[in-house]
Amino acid sequence: MKKIGIIFALKEELEATLKKLTLKNEYKIFDLTFYECEKKDKECILVECGIGKVNAARCTQILIDNLEVDCILNIGVAGGVSKKVNICDVVIGDKLVQHDFDLRAFNHERGYIPNVGLYVNCDEYLIRTAEKIKIDTNTHVGTIASGDIFVTELNMGEKINSKFGALCVEMEGASIAQVCYLSNVPFLVIRSISDSPNKSANNNITFDEFLEKSSNTVAKFVNKLIEKID
Ligand code: SAH
Repeated sequence: MKKIGIIFALKEELEATLKKLTLKNEYKIFDLTFYECEKKDKECILVECGIGKVNAARCTQILIDNLEVDCILNIGVAGGVSKKVNICDVVIGDKLVQHDFDLRAFNHERGYIPNVGLYVNCDEYLIRTAEKIKIDTNTHVGTIASGDIFVTELNMGEKINSKFGALCVEMEGASIAQVCYLSNVPFLVIRSISDSPNKSANNNITFDEFLEKSSNTVAKFVNKLIEKID
């Protein structure tokens, strides 16, 4: 895998990784800016997709259609919903689920998407390669849940954990997973914990505080991963 597409939702997340690579070129497709970078023998195409599943899905398809990447990484921050994960820990997704996808009216379980399934698995080789990376923070492998909601309520976080076994929650990974699955492109989602749902709605305290630190942590991780991917 020589050409790696890397998708970030936020500018802060992208910049933390961009500064570790050598920028060769940048160009726009529609309103998205693609940063063509080099790291030893690898070419990386970085892009900020914007927040949420629609932005992420659209960006993923544009990346696949125009830039012939061999694999896609989705890198960023997330809210911890398991007692196992702490602020700044890294979570390597082994599978993704859309916790807000709801066809229960038709006897499907919550999260189930016809012709896709409940979970979309990340690429086995990319998971194994990521698992070998050591940085100065705890790393976990497990389920990541995505939905178009910033989760702050303890109750919602607990439900997402118990229903799907998710370690963390974010707003893009599972839609990137779905597009990659449908287009047959290997992918992996890696997130660092920026906050943990533990308050009543609209009362999140640590996201802004840890966005930069967690973005730097996951950037350090992905920087090592890029070198290890064959
Ligand atoms: N600061 C932005 C909003 C960020 S939304 C603004 O002012 O517009 C949060 C982003 O971080 C999303 O891209 C999502 O993937 C991730 N994220 C981190 N913690 C999250 C949580 N608790 N719930 C959902 N997404 C979370």
